[in-house]
Amino acid sequence: MLYPSNPQADLHVHTVASGHAYSTIGEIAQEAARKGVRMVGMTDHGPGLPGGPHPYHFAALRFVPEYLYGVRVLRGIEANILGIGQLDLDDGLLERLDLVMAGFHEECGFDERGRDENTRALLALMEKPKVKVIAHPGNPNFPLDYRAVVEKSLATGTALEINNSSFCISRRGSAGNCREIIRLCAELGAPVTLGSDAHIAQGVGEFDDALLEVAAAGIRWEQVVNRTFESALAFLGLSG
Ligand SMILES: [Zn+2]
Ligand SMILES: [Zn+2]
Repeated sequence: MLYPSNPQADLHVHTVASGHAYSTIGEIAQEAARKGVRMVGMTDHGPGLPGGPHPYHFAALRFVPEYLYGVRVLRGIEANILGIGQLDLDDGLLERLDLVMAGFHEECGFDERGRDENTRALLALMEKPKVKVIAHPGNPNFPLDYRAVVEKSLATGTALEINNSSFCISRRGSAGNCREIIRLCAELGAPVTLGSDAHIAQGVGEFDDALLEVAAAGIRWEQVVNRTFESALAFLGLSG
């Protein structure tokens, strides 16, 4: 391992609230504590995904304590991109969250629009200060102008996620696109986050494939915004 440690924060985890994941936030936090992961982003899918939570889920996140089993729990969302600069939760609710991640997903009303329109929609969202992370930009079902996206990431400070599951479990055909994104991020020095995208507690903090790829491409440790508890807090503008 070329880096000093594993990332201390996992900013992409799903609970049973997503409708197709299998653990509670309590089970996830307990497993995170066992593995030495100090922060988890509870980023259930936005209401636009079939089977996803109602907007009330996001309004009620204030019931979740900031710390469970000593692990900082971020009240977050993996919001669905619906159009140019448009997400599937009201700005008022998004503003209350600790972590807003946005991504393209199938069956949410934004399918098959082509590379140029996908890129336009994403670049517009990256202009929003509340959107801190772009989830799995290497998804082959939503082609993008990767150089334009990485240049935008550098300009706005929006981190691009290197999604561990894209290399082993989800979104078949992602790996080549992810490598191209990683190469560009290394070249330009853009911020990245590593996420497990775990859909069960046992997957929290699993970054091995993504870590190997970013290290091999020469991503500097300082580019990884979730490398430590403190760097993740600073990146999100939160206090401990
Ligand atoms: Zn996703
Ligand atoms: Zn996800």
